[in-house]
Amino acid sequence: MRNGVKFILSASLLALTTPVSAQNAPDHPAVTVGGQTYTPRSILARNMGTTEDQTTALGPFHIIGNIYYVGTRTLSSYLLVTPQGNILIDSTYERNVPTIAKSVAKLGFKFSDIKILLGNHAHADHQEGDALVKQMTGAQVVAMEADIPALQFITPEGKQHPIDRIINDGDKVTLGGATLTAHLTAGHTRGCTTWTTTATENGKTYNVLIGCSLRAPAVIPPGTRDAFERTFKYIRTLPCDVQLGDHGAQFGLLEKYARLKAGGPNPFIDPKSCFHEADVEEAMFKALLVEQQRS
Ligand SMILES: [Zn+2]
Repeated sequence: MRNGVKFILSASLLALTTPVSAQNAPDHPAVTVGGQTYTPRSILARNMGTTEDQTTALGPFHIIGNIYYVGTRTLSSYLLVTPQGNILIDSTYERNVPTIAKSVAKLGFKFSDIKILLGNHAHADHQEGDALVKQMTGAQVVAMEADIPALQFITPEGKQHPIDRIINDGDKVTLGGATLTAHLTAGHTRGCTTWTTTATENGKTYNVLIGCSLRAPAVIPPGTRDAFERTFKYIRTLPCDVQLGDHGAQFGLLEKYARLKAGGPNPFIDPKSCFHEADVEEAMFKALLVEQQRS
């Protein structure tokens, strides 16, 4: 019996750390939000893109204030620059770490100046590269406590996942005048973390929200259901002028980047769109629950 429980726990943690391919995701239910129809399959396809999208650098470019984009076309990675060293959010897949390092260098910063590494959530497409970033920079790796069991399953080529500081809901990370607040927005993983900070542009200060994934699994266990219900309520209480996230499709990255390059007002300052992704994912969550109760 104990072994059985252990097996189920390990299997579910493994499922949490193994990226799901879009083809395996169901094409039902369908929900329409803002005139666009989504299925679990289309959401996953939109998030991940092709293998090339996952590994091809986008930019790098300046988003706002001290925040830069250093990720790939579909897997986000952010550099926060401070006078006392820099913060990296999301190493993504280990194979992307050299690409991220190149992007950091292209912007004129040193990869070795990364002092702190933060994560969005304990899935390989966002945090598999943590051990390599730690090796290359010596950065302090910060982990939300509830995500630690899942992080410990992320061991690329046998490398243990590094953890130097354990945080919980509401804890702050500070460096060189920059402060990021960690918000536990569980559901997608147990320690799914939404980060908030502020950024200044043209003398105005904006609230930046780097949201955790809100994508529900095809089958929603009771504990996960409770977590998502709290998260969908909580997320909307956070201050937000600039929405960022772990996959570009959640916040119109490619389209906003194209507008940014064209000039004009910063397209990333867009408070109206801050919770659009929450609307999409909450509609899907509810539709999945209805389907689950029927079967
Ligand atoms: Zn994920």
